[in-house]
Parts: sequence; C-alpha cells; structure tokens
Amino acid sequence: MHELAICQVLMNQVESIAAERNARSVVSIVVGMGPLSGVEAQLLEHAYPVASAGTVAEGAELVIENLPVRIKCTECGKESEASPNKLICKACGDWRTTLISGDELMLMRVELETAPEHANTTREADGPGVTIH
Ligand SMILES: [Zn+2]
Repeated sequence: MHELAICQVLMNQVESIAAERNARSVVSIVVGMGPLSGVEAQLLEHAYPVASAGTVAEGAELVIENLPVRIKCTECGKESEASPNKLICKACGDWRTTLISGDELMLMRVELETAPEHANTTREADGPGVTIH
C-alpha cells in the first residue's frame, strides 16, 4: 500500500517536529499535494488514521491542500500554471515545457499543542480512577 508508506514518512516528520518543539500533541497536519504526485488524496486520508495511531499525531486533523501545477516554457522562458493533463505554456502556447511543481507531496504545516508543565500533570492524572468533585 503506497499511501500508507507515504503516510508513515509524514508521521516520522511530524513526530520529529513535535519532539523538537516539546509538543504535547498535534492539533492538525497540513499536507500539500500536487495533482501529478501520483497520490490519491482519498487513499491518503484512509491510511492516515492507521499511520498516526500510537504516534503523537494520533487524533490530529489531516488537511490536504491542492498545489497548482506550474511549468516553465523552454521556448519563451515564461512560467505559468497549467492543468495536469495539458502542460502547455500559457504565454505562447508551446508544449515544450518543463515542470516546476505539481508532482510533490510535502508536509506544509504542523499545528502543535505545547503545554506548560502544570497542564501536563493534569493531563496525566486525567484517567480512570480519578474523581473530580
Ligand atoms: Zn512559452
């Protein structure tokens, strides 16, 4: 399963960021995805709960942002946005273009919850057997 492997790589990145910042938990993860990345957003969303289970990102919201396809024309040198199935220069209409972006999948933002020391203790005490009157 391709998407699960990708998800696990993302989780590794999120975990190291969270550890670096001393985060208690992860609120949300924003992933940027180009239409030519070859990854299905739906499958990624599907794999996400599996990959994040047991990590600091468990329960965090996954947001997928669609990134545009950008090309550079080798004829006129202009950069423009293109549709994924039609990589044609918008300026001159030439098809001799190179892809600048649109095939990437990357971690764009991670929203972390960093807790002061006191809040941490409360959190740990919050479990079965603890009654608050
Ligand atoms: Zn052009």
